[in-house]
Amino acid sequence: MDHGIKLWEQTLNVLKQELDESDYSVLFSEADQIYKVENNFIYIIVPNALTKYRIEKFYINKLNDIVASLSDSLIKFKFILKDEMDEMETSATVSKDDVSKRPLRAEYTFNNFVTGESNRFAFLSAMKVAETPESLYNPLYIFGDVGLGKTHLMMAIGNYILDDKPDTNIVYTSAQEFTEDYFLATSTRKGREKIEQFYRKYRDTDVLLVDDIQFLENKHSTQEEFFKVFEHLHGINKQIVITSDRSANELKNMMARLKSRFNWGLSVDIKVPDKPLRLNIIKRKLSFLIENPKDIPVEALDIIADHFTNNIRDLEGALRRYVTYCISLNIPFTVQNLYTALDSILPENEEEKDISNKLFENIKSEVASYYKVSVSDLESPSRKQVYTYARQMAIYIIKAHYNPSLKLIGEYFGNRDHATISHSYDKIKNLLKTNPLVKNDYDILIKKINKLQFSSFPHS
Ligand code: ADP
Ligand code: MG
Repeated sequence: MDHGIKLWEQTLNVLKQELDESDYSVLFSEADQIYKVENNFIYIIVPNALTKYRIEKFYINKLNDIVASLSDSLIKFKFILKDEMDEMETSATVSKDDVSKRPLRAEYTFNNFVTGESNRFAFLSAMKVAETPESLYNPLYIFGDVGLGKTHLMMAIGNYILDDKPDTNIVYTSAQEFTEDYFLATSTRKGREKIEQFYRKYRDTDVLLVDDIQFLENKHSTQEEFFKVFEHLHGINKQIVITSDRSANELKNMMARLKSRFNWGLSVDIKVPDKPLRLNIIKRKLSFLIENPKDIPVEALDIIADHFTNNIRDLEGALRRYVTYCISLNIPFTVQNLYTALDSILPENEEEKDISNKLFENIKSEVASYYKVSVSDLESPSRKQVYTYARQMAIYIIKAHYNPSLKLIGEYFGNRDHATISHSYDKIKNLLKTNPLVKNDYDILIKKINKLQFSSFPHS
């Protein structure tokens, strides 16, 4: 709300310089209150119908242009009379229902979409389509790997159009659902009625959003039907938006006619997010998850951003898991707790994997030679006491100093499960406190390991 007022004031300041003093004060001097800010719209209260008419007729584009230059996100103004506010209040419950009846997820808006280099062009193109459907880019074809925001952007287009013009008929479907609908329409006994229902759904629409078109690969008759729907809508200038996990040309067993249609409009891809974008997304999601995002240490955010590099859904999932883990157990948001919360899902990033691989192999051989056993004895299932002890020592050193996931350590020791690894760690930890011989072994080993040229312990 405050942000909305500020934007409105800044916009007016710019406009003021371009307008005649008297025109300005007649129209805008009393327009100083905001009714609400919703998704991408700021609603300004105006005193009378004539003022509203004149603003909408002569100044709305100008105002929207100005605010576009002032803000990163897509914001537009709407003007509303006091009477209309009352009407909106009484119909508020109804329109809320309408929103929940939409086939679109309400939180998938442009406002909630964080942009960076990898998705900016797709974002701008989607906004363009939302602002002027049925004209420029038809179809808009958005492609990219799973979890990168294709569905989000597609639904943002739909939500934006519906906020702007609630009567627009928008159909969201996945290629899978389209296939099922078509199958039902043609295979039941009530053939005629069903097929008409199918046509009504897909042909009497202003905007058609089709998610994951790659699902139509190999389905020849469904492709044929989709082609007809496409031709029909495109022919009468209705907007079509399509998403896919790859470019149209890379689709296999897809009619050439369809592929060429997909290339008619604008094709945009979303790439894997870079680190700054990943961090910005984390910060944005955090502001929805907890009251004081500052409670989370920067290092924790950094670790999440470093480990979930190619799927925003996973990135989000990891963040949510960490936050709910700490909140539900009422423990602080520490890096240690992050590792515990994410133990089973934290993938190693490639570079780290290489380094730790060498390092852990070397620690194993150092420990093995100290106890005069072999590395394969450490990895073997044998429970001979000397092996077990050496193995536990190696596990302890790796966990205490590097703290990789229990699962990963298990993999380095003959695929032992995490309970065994955890037990080994505890065992040596206790012995170090009570048994000087064990402590002596440990100290010597640490010295040896520190001499390994590529391993200085990060936090010993
Ligand atoms: P796709 O359809 O490409 O598989 P989705 O659109 O379902 O991916 O996105 C996966 C999740 O990541 C969703 O929760 C979505 O809101 C989120 N997401 C993706 N990109 C962004 C972004 N740029 N900003 C904010 N959230 C994003
Ligand atoms: Mg999707």
